[in-house]
Amino acid sequence: MISATTRVAAVIGDPVRHSMSPAIHNAGFEAAGIDGVYVALPVVSGQAALAVAAMRTFDWFGLSVTTPHKQEIMASCDELTDTSRLLGAVNCVFWKDGKIVGDSTDGDGFVRGLAADFGLSPAGLKCVLFGAGGAAGAVAHSLAAAGAAEVVVLNRTPDRAHVAASLAGAVGRVGTIGDLADAALVVNATPMGMGSTPHVDQVPFDVAALQPAAVVSDLIYHPAETRMIRAARARGLRVQNGLPMLVHQAVAAFEHWTGVPGPVQAMTAAAQAGLDSRS
Ligand code: NAP
Repeated sequence: MISATTRVAAVIGDPVRHSMSPAIHNAGFEAAGIDGVYVALPVVSGQAALAVAAMRTFDWFGLSVTTPHKQEIMASCDELTDTSRLLGAVNCVFWKDGKIVGDSTDGDGFVRGLAADFGLSPAGLKCVLFGAGGAAGAVAHSLAAAGAAEVVVLNRTPDRAHVAASLAGAVGRVGTIGDLADAALVVNATPMGMGSTPHVDQVPFDVAALQPAAVVSDLIYHPAETRMIRAARARGLRVQNGLPMLVHQAVAAFEHWTGVPGPVQAMTAAAQAGLDSRS
């Protein structure tokens, strides 16, 4: 029930009307008994500072931040977490000790999703990442922070691969396709396999190259099963799509805003329902 005490959280972006975040977070508020409401606000490039000013003025819980504001909003935050400063991107803004803080929860969401789906920690594992964009960089950094033994990046454009690998610090390096043979975790962080042409029929690599114990993660959640995931499942490998990362980056944001554990089950169900309604 929205009342005079209800606090607001919002996603800002352009475009933003397609976002599943309102469904995920409102389900979370309801399940946790939090007096909050989450809305999607179209904010054009160059106007992110106004959204932060609104958060300050109205004492909102915080913001989720998507394209095109992930870099622009950094200048409006009072503080940045080490992760967001290193990645040069913010996807979540929250209050801490009276200050507005910018964080990036994508990589943390990915690592939490591994734990939730497989009980898997990256500690000591060789991890191979396809892609070197924003998502790959966030995942590379968080895998290293979680103790991965190696974070190996493969990308179409070699210069970008070096940048993404550097986000994993000492355990990061650029690799070759031969690195797949003994990888414990392989992640597709490219749009290859996404639900529209030209990507839908593409696979980033041949799953026949993987060891039977490998875990395969595709950051794509639409379609729910890419060709790569179907092939890996057919080989009997453990697989996940991008839904756990989507949900758990939201759970991390929810926890920044409210200080209570995110209700994972309710938020997952809302995300799944949103995806089902799109397919
Ligand atoms: P991005 O910044 O645009 O980076 C895309 C990366 O994929 C680049 O490294 C690019 O290589 C590579 N790539 C693109 N098309 C390719 C092709 N045809 N062949 C080989 N490589 C190709 O994108 P992003 O934001 O990192 O997102 C990457 C994927 O992760 C997308 O599918 C996105 O939907 C997904 N994602 C999921 C979540 C989640 O919550 N599940 C969150 C964020 C992103 P170059 O460097 O050579 O251009």
